Amino acid sequence: MRYEAVIGLELHIQLDTNSKLFSSSPNTFGSEPNDNTNELDLAYPGVLPVLNRQAVVYAAMFGQAIDAKVNPHAFFMRKNYFYPDLPKGYQISQLDDAVIQGGTVVLDMGEYQREVRINRGQLEEDAGKSVHDAFSDRTGIDLNRAGVPLIELVSEPDMRSAKEAVAFMRKIHHLVRYLGISDGNMQEGSFRCDANVSIREPGSEAYNARVELKNINSFRFVEQAINIEIERQSDLMDQSQPIDQETRLFDAEKQETRTMRSKEEANDYRYFPDPDLLPLDLDEAFFEEVAEQLPELPHLRRERYRQAHELDEDSLDYILQDRYSADFFDAVVAQCGDGKLVSNWLQGEFARLLNEHQLDIDEAPVSAEALAALLQRIQDGTISGNAAKKLLPQMWESGESADVLIDAQGLKQVNDDQQILSWIDEVIVESPDQVAAYQNGQEKMLGYFVGQVLKRSKGQANPKTVNQLLRDKLKQ
Ligand code: ADP
Ligand code: MG
Repeated sequence: MRYEAVIGLELHIQLDTNSKLFSSSPNTFGSEPNDNTNELDLAYPGVLPVLNRQAVVYAAMFGQAIDAKVNPHAFFMRKNYFYPDLPKGYQISQLDDAVIQGGTVVLDMGEYQREVRINRGQLEEDAGKSVHDAFSDRTGIDLNRAGVPLIELVSEPDMRSAKEAVAFMRKIHHLVRYLGISDGNMQEGSFRCDANVSIREPGSEAYNARVELKNINSFRFVEQAINIEIERQSDLMDQSQPIDQETRLFDAEKQETRTMRSKEEANDYRYFPDPDLLPLDLDEAFFEEVAEQLPELPHLRRERYRQAHELDEDSLDYILQDRYSADFFDAVVAQCGDGKLVSNWLQGEFARLLNEHQLDIDEAPVSAEALAALLQRIQDGTISGNAAKKLLPQMWESGESADVLIDAQGLKQVNDDQQILSWIDEVIVESPDQVAAYQNGQEKMLGYFVGQVLKRSKGQANPKTVNQLLRDKLKQ
């Protein structure tokens, strides 16, 4: 790398509230164009915005999760600009007095860690959409998205490579889904990224002019767009050409960025406090509400799991992929105790079934309690692990409990020593050659005997017991 890259991200995170930020229109994706609109979203004269309390709670939850200060007296500003998808002529947004102030996100990059400071998180409304492909000779306007609550999260320019930028995005994406404040659906635009990129001589502390790359809507494209932009700027710098502060668009097909517009300065927007909205006045009751809705944070939960169960990092990643998986894990473990067993089952048979039926864990037809009851039957020796593997899909289909299916199918494992010994005796009598071989030192023969005894028991003898009893019996 000839130059050092300097990258700051702005993430737009749609909040999963029932209604919009300042109007009672539904906040849902995929309705017919303009169905989710009322007088407020259409900016009729005389309408007044009413702040959605839940959106503020979500923003505060997020702020606490990234160790930011939640500003109890945040207020809203009008950002004025003219665009067809913005009927009011201004967006209600925040600036320096945003609700989320500061905070840090630590990225684990393998060999090193990168600490990214957060500048602020603004609570603001989304704009509508121009629709270019609905009519042949004109552009349509769909205002369903107008007024949907967003957190605009602004990082400090603390990232130094495209990989770090993607790691930052992934970390925040995971966090908002884990907190349950956003579905993070990138195809539907619930989670969007603008990347600011500049370069400088290695060792230099100064910031150079930045280019803003707009709306790059996948992790892969963010990485590509930033790398391509770093290359473009490096070539210019090599030739001592100026790098303009501007907004550029990433073209994934052509693998290039190109000028969209020169970057506005803040004063172009004529920001001023929105006179229709009072400043926030977040009190104790509000923060209690936040605490109630805030789940145990992922890094603390990871530490707790690390201490309590012997789980490797991959297993921890799997269990902590979202809050519902972790809650499910907790509920199963609460009943059957063995974290490692539960983790193996969640990643194995349970994951396979979820995948096969295209379900999320909170939609699984087998509850945490039902799974725990099945695992308990392995633990107490009633059934073998293999029998349990066959039972789980049946529980999934039929909704029956493990115990009912075990009884109905006579799957109970035989643990009775006398019964097992009588099978062993039969096998030994029938296999004199193999006995001789074993006793002459062919240890491998043991497997043959175990197999024969299990066969005689129709798979129901407890293999552990069979093993032990066989060893004793065959000892000379
Ligand atoms: P704007 O309204 O112009 O988007 P913001 O304050 O919302 O301004 O966002 C600025 C973003 O640009 C932040 O993410 C910040 O980290 C980043 N940034 C600022 N200066 C530089 C720079 N020299 N190089 C790269 N990124 C920068
Ligand atoms: Mg910005």
